Amino acid sequence: MKIAVVGTGYVGLVAGTCFSDTGNEVICVDNDQRKIDRLNKGEIPIYEPGLEEMIKRNTLQERLSFSTDIATAVKNSEIIFIAVGTPPDEDGSADLKYVLQVAQSIGKHINGFKVIVDKSTVPIGTADLVTKEIARHSDESFAVVSNPEFLKEGAAISDFMRPDRVVIGSNNERASEIMRNLYAPFVRTGKPIIVMDIRSAELTKYAANSLLATKISFMNEIANLCEVVGANVDMVRKGIGSDARIGPYFIFPGTGYGGSCFPKDVKAIIKTAADNNAKLQILEAVESVNKKQKTILYKKIESYFKGDLKGKTFAMWGLAFKPKTDDMREAPAIDLINALAATGAKIQGHDPEANDEARRIFGDRVGKEITLFNKRYDALNNADALIIMTEWNEFREPDFYLVKDMLKSAAIFDGRNIYNPERMQKFEIDYFSIGRSSTN
Ligand code: NAD
Repeated sequence: MKIAVVGTGYVGLVAGTCFSDTGNEVICVDNDQRKIDRLNKGEIPIYEPGLEEMIKRNTLQERLSFSTDIATAVKNSEIIFIAVGTPPDEDGSADLKYVLQVAQSIGKHINGFKVIVDKSTVPIGTADLVTKEIARHSDESFAVVSNPEFLKEGAAISDFMRPDRVVIGSNNERASEIMRNLYAPFVRTGKPIIVMDIRSAELTKYAANSLLATKISFMNEIANLCEVVGANVDMVRKGIGSDARIGPYFIFPGTGYGGSCFPKDVKAIIKTAADNNAKLQILEAVESVNKKQKTILYKKIESYFKGDLKGKTFAMWGLAFKPKTDDMREAPAIDLINALAATGAKIQGHDPEANDEARRIFGDRVGKEITLFNKRYDALNNADALIIMTEWNEFREPDFYLVKDMLKSAAIFDGRNIYNPERMQKFEIDYFSIGRSSTN
């Protein structure tokens, strides 16, 4: 099939590449000229395991190309995916300006029946808006379907190639059939393609992300309770996770959820409910628990140093919102860096993939409040303590003697619970984690 994917970010680039890998002819479109120039030179603008090799293979076979020319892409394709960003607006709702810009371009250049696919996470009713916008500019026939994406950054290729399910919202049988055929190679092991009405598909994505965010906030509250009653959240997690009704996934406590999806999607569904005179009380609590959780490590650091943080230096391992990605959108590390910097402390950060993104985010603060290091141990030089913000594998087993030697205070504040408290005690390292007793 001939496919256009508009928006070449984490979702669009992965989706377009994976569709080309199953033999389709795919043109990925973006209005960011620099991004397209880089892709045409073989440079991959994001870090995602396995992506670079897959892009190389498919561009070489001329199944995958990159362009800023949306007109040609629309004219030459049977299926057009809209995979642009839907960032939060000031009131928490999803900002649809990019989605509707693309719909307008499609309307201007459509030349025969096409399936238009909302791949971006969009509020209920967006397919109707996209339909109206296209129809405003054209009399051609087309069908808009909703096909929310469930991939996880860091495992995006394997999630896309082997999804747990594919959700398709459609009220047009011809479009449903085209979508079933397109996804057939991805569900050969029998995973379901669930075709439903459009509004249910749109809501499914928000419901899924909101439930996952709920699990995280729930577990963070239980972890905080563990600390005050002297329980160990690792044990509680194992104890509840082995119940098949609960399951072992997504019940790890930490410093609050971040990333480009959970914070904005929870806000957007709360707003959708409010707009419809409904109230999502659980999700309102999920959001406020998360906000508080993002301050939890700061409070531990402040208390350890008795409020005297001015002039202190903190090594921070991990800046991305989770491992195996360079994405720092809404990363808890940003909140902690800002809180520490506000007291006059300095941060020496290191992330295996997100240093460039941190440079972009912190701009001219880099080299002043925050310095970035390519090697993990270099970030420890002259630091008062070490903070762990992302559970990259390479942080799990450092040379603890060296870490202790390099730090002025031999203290580790671990927001991801990657070390064993008893082991830290043996190393005589003051160790603070989430939901477990501290060792100092
Ligand atoms: P992103 O910011 O990485 O990429 C969006 C891309 O769209 C950018 O490259 C931008 O330049 C481009 N763009 C914006 N307006 C455009 C236009 N008018 N024409 C052409 N290109 C345009 O975003 P993302 O993380 O890929 O997310 C895209 C959507 O998918 C969002 O709605 C998001 O909620 C959803 N989603 C994201 C993930 C994830 O893990 N990142 C997972 C599932 C769903």
